[in-house]
Amino acid sequence: MENQSNFIKTIMEDDIKTGKHDEIITRFPPEPNGFLHIGHARAIVTNFELAKVFGGKTNLRYDDTNPSKEDEVYVKGIIEDVRWLGYEPAGIYWASDYFEEMYQRAIILIKKGLAYVDDQSAEEIAKTRGDVVTPGIPSPYRNRTVDENLELFAQMREGKFKEGEKVLRAKIDMASPNMNMRDPVLYRINFASHHNTGDTWKVYPMYDFAHPIEDAIEGITHSLCSLEFEDHRPLYDWVVRETEMPHTPRQIEFGRLGIVNTVMSKRLLKYLVDSNYVDGWDDPRMPTLSGLRRKGYTKEAIRAFILATGLAKVNSEVEVDMLESFVRDDLQARAGRAFAVINPLKVTITNYPEGKIEYFDVPFHPENTGLGSRKIAFSKHVYIEQEDFSEVKPDNKYKRLSLGGEVRLFHTYFIKATDVVKDENGKIVEVLATYDEKTLSGSGFNERKPDGTIHFVEATTAIPATFNFFGPLLDADTNKTIDERYNPNSLSQKQGFIEGGLKDVKTDEKFQFVRNGYFNCYANKKTNNPYEFNEIVPLKSSYK
Ligand code: ATP
Ligand code: MG
Repeated sequence: MENQSNFIKTIMEDDIKTGKHDEIITRFPPEPNGFLHIGHARAIVTNFELAKVFGGKTNLRYDDTNPSKEDEVYVKGIIEDVRWLGYEPAGIYWASDYFEEMYQRAIILIKKGLAYVDDQSAEEIAKTRGDVVTPGIPSPYRNRTVDENLELFAQMREGKFKEGEKVLRAKIDMASPNMNMRDPVLYRINFASHHNTGDTWKVYPMYDFAHPIEDAIEGITHSLCSLEFEDHRPLYDWVVRETEMPHTPRQIEFGRLGIVNTVMSKRLLKYLVDSNYVDGWDDPRMPTLSGLRRKGYTKEAIRAFILATGLAKVNSEVEVDMLESFVRDDLQARAGRAFAVINPLKVTITNYPEGKIEYFDVPFHPENTGLGSRKIAFSKHVYIEQEDFSEVKPDNKYKRLSLGGEVRLFHTYFIKATDVVKDENGKIVEVLATYDEKTLSGSGFNERKPDGTIHFVEATTAIPATFNFFGPLLDADTNKTIDERYNPNSLSQKQGFIEGGLKDVKTDEKFQFVRNGYFNCYANKKTNNPYEFNEIVPLKSSYK
C-alpha cells in the first residue's frame, strides 16, 4: 500500500498533515462466529497496511457482543489466520472487556433523556418502524421518566425480565429518513453464557451501540468497515457524541470483496460445514483463509491479490481466475519442481538390466538454487502418464510417446516404444520400450530429435500418493438455494505416484509437479496418509 493511492490513505494523509492526528490507529474487528474468509483478508490487509504506511498501529478486536453465536474455536482460528497473513496486532482486545463501560455510557444516555426502556416485542418494534415514505410510530413507552428508565434498565441487568421482554432503545427520531435513527435498540436481554464473561451479564449491547464505543475507548482514529455500514454512520457518530466519549473515531466505508462461484457469508459457510457438504471450515474448497491455506495458497499471493484488487467505494466481485493467477505467479518463482504421475501407465525398458537403478542429481528449481536438489531414479521399470501414450501417433506434431515413436524421459534417456500389453478388454496396461544409452541428458547427443519430452517416475522407488482436485464448490446462480448450488463433483481424487525423492515431504510443502500443476502436501490425519496432495492451481489458466 506504500506505493498505492486510495481514498482512505488520502484521508489519513490529510489528517496527519492538518495535525488532526499524530498517529494512525486502526483495528480489525471480527465477530468470532466463524472462520475468516478471503473477504476478511481485504479488511485485514487494508487496516494493517494503511497503519504501517504511517508508522501507526492496528488492534485485533473480537467483537464478541452476541453470546449465542460465538465460540472459542473461532477465537483461536481468527488470530491464527491474521498471523498467518503476516500481521501481528499491536493489541488484542475484546468488546466484552468494555461491557461495564458500555453499560455506564448507556446510563449517561438515559440520564440525558436519550434512551428508554421499551416493553414492545421485537415484532412490534419492527412493525412500528415505518418505511422510507412512512414515519415510524413512537413507542407507548417512549416517554418513561429518567428514573423509571434507570430502575428498569438496572433490573434488566439483574435478570429480572425474560429474554425479549424489554429492550433499551435510543430516543432519536422516529421520522428520520435514515431508518437506523428511528430509535434503534441499544441493549437486549440474553441469558446465554458468554465465552469470556460467563453468566455475569444478562443484557448485551447491540453492534451499533457497542462498536463506536469500542473504537473510541481504543483511540482508533479511522474505523474502516464495509459498505453496508454506510447508513449506520450517523448513528455511529451519534453514539460517540451523546455518550460523551473523550475520543472521536471516524468511520470510513469501503467496498466488500466477493468471488464468483462462492459465498462469503459466515452464516452460509457454517451451513456448508454443518451440512457436511465440506470437510470442515478448512476444506480446500472453502473461501476461508484456513481452507485456502490447506489447499496450498500462500500468504504472499493472497496479499498481492488483495492489493491488486485495490480499494473502492463499491462492492466488487472478481473471478477466481484472478486470484489463481497471483497464486500461480508466486509459486512459479518459489515452488520446487518434482515428478508425479497421476494416471500411471507401466513402461518396461526391455534392454535395461533388471535390478539396476541409476540416480541423477536434479535441482528442485531451474533458477532458485536455494531450494537445493533431489535425486531422481531410473530403471527398467517406470511409470508415465496414460495421456502421454498413444498406440497410434495421431499426427506429426504429436509430442508424446507412441508405438514406434521416441521421446526423452526428463533428465534421463530417450526411450522408444516397441510393443504394448493389453488386458482382456483391450485396454493398454503396459508399454514395452527400449532405451538408448547414448542419449543420456547432458551428454551432447544430437543425432536425432525425439518427438517430445515427458515426465516419469521410477517404479520400484515411487511412492503411492493421493491427488485431490477441486472444482467450484457452488454454482454461480445466486437465485438458487445453497443446497441447489452445491456442486457434488467439486472434489475428485486420483491415486498415482510421486518420485521417491519426496519421501520426507512435509505438510504444506509445495511443488510444481512437472506438466501437471502446483500441489500442496497435505498429511491427512484421518486416513493417516502422509502423501496426499491438494492441487493448488493448474499450470495454465483454464479461464475462457
Ligand atoms: P460475514 O457476512 O462474512 O459474516 P461480517 O462482516 O459479518 O462478515 P465480521 O466478523 O463482522 O464479518 O467482519 C470483520 C470485518 O471484516 C468487518 O470490518 C467487515 O466489514 C470486514 N469484512 C467482512 N467481509 C468482508 C468482505 N467480503 N470484504 C471486505 N471486508 C469484509
Ligand atoms: Mg458481522
